[in-house]
Amino acid sequence: MAQGDHLYNCYMPPAQEFVRGEGAYLYTEDNEKYLDFIAGISVNCLGHGHPAPMNALKEQAEKVWHLSGMFRIQGTYTLADKYCAALPFAEKVFFTNSGAEALECAMKTARKYHYDRGDVDRYDILTFQGAFHGRTFATINAGGNPKYLKGFGPALPGFISLPFADHEALEAAVSDTTAAILVEPVQGEGGLRPLPTQCLQGLRKLCDEKGILLIYDEVQCGAGRTGKLFAHQWAENAEPDIMAVAKGVGGGFPMGACIATEAAAAGMVPGTHGSTYGGNPLAMAVGNAVFDEISKPEFLDNVNRVSNFLVQQFEGLKDEFPDVVVELRGKGLLCGMQLKKPAVEVRKMLLERKMLGGSAGDNTLRLAPPLIITEDHVREAIAIMRDAFTEARALDDVELA
Ligand SMILES: *Cc1c(COP(=O)(O)O)cnc(C)c1O
Repeated sequence: MAQGDHLYNCYMPPAQEFVRGEGAYLYTEDNEKYLDFIAGISVNCLGHGHPAPMNALKEQAEKVWHLSGMFRIQGTYTLADKYCAALPFAEKVFFTNSGAEALECAMKTARKYHYDRGDVDRYDILTFQGAFHGRTFATINAGGNPKYLKGFGPALPGFISLPFADHEALEAAVSDTTAAILVEPVQGEGGLRPLPTQCLQGLRKLCDEKGILLIYDEVQCGAGRTGKLFAHQWAENAEPDIMAVAKGVGGGFPMGACIATEAAAAGMVPGTHGSTYGGNPLAMAVGNAVFDEISKPEFLDNVNRVSNFLVQQFEGLKDEFPDVVVELRGKGLLCGMQLKKPAVEVRKMLLERKMLGGSAGDNTLRLAPPLIITEDHVREAIAIMRDAFTEARALDDVELA
């Protein structure tokens, strides 16, 4: 038997094994150094080994590890207060362990809202092609990606997937059974596609007119990644009723949250929802420490400064490699490029050169470095990418949709 034979065969990790991390770098057992430009897919926002969450976790580990929501957990109160102070719409928070669970809570919250108002048939959730909301039954149905649904039985009713950023299709789909519209302000998995500001504002307006709840999935694009604390904050007058967060808000410790208005969450009373580990003291210690770091103005200033520099450098690469790069994608440090050559192969070429990147739908090279990177890290990445793109020129072009 080879190592890994007893694991579900759902992942195909490369041979390199990382045993230690420091800032924007990961190290193998033999101390080979890799530049981490994926951060566990938009997770390690403070990089590896940041002292703030590390010390918070150690301190909490010596006190108490677990209680469950049946008992008071100080960290849940403080972190919920912080989210609600930072986000004008936010009044209520439910803590989860993951993004998918935050989305499950968000969708249950939306359906319960209408149910409690007597609109028992109002349960449809409208989503957009290219969306990704997780891998549970409800979230694969919400995502609507046929690849992720195939083999897992009949599609669940109550989810309608619409063309991306098509206002007319959306207006036509809205009916008196529409409970909520669920959207990522920047699509991650779908190919790093930001929803234009006027689309977010249009969604808000449409939801207000029709009594529909607006749900944002900021699991990947939130937590400072785009240069605002949460990505939708780039748009004025486009606040959601409910928002799911995870990934970066835990900085590498599994946690997430569903954040809602008081009105939207009114029906989520004792007995309607729960989670054994959600709001766990260890997770809350880390979540509070991460929030305190990423909400500092100088932290977000760094994200904006470095991402502006990165975009300039990416523009340069695009000009230099018109035969490899189609266009730049993403927002802030959720960034990448749609390629003419297979993105998965280019990702491997980066790995051979000791840089970690990812790929996403639409043949996109996906990069999501720790948010603590500097211009020097970007220069290092660009040099590696230039070298990899030179080799990638020899690959066959892929057919783009
Ligand atoms: C990763 C992701 C999820 C799912 O989060 P998990 O923690 O893997 O359950 C949901 N939505 C988006 C946008 C994501 O990127």
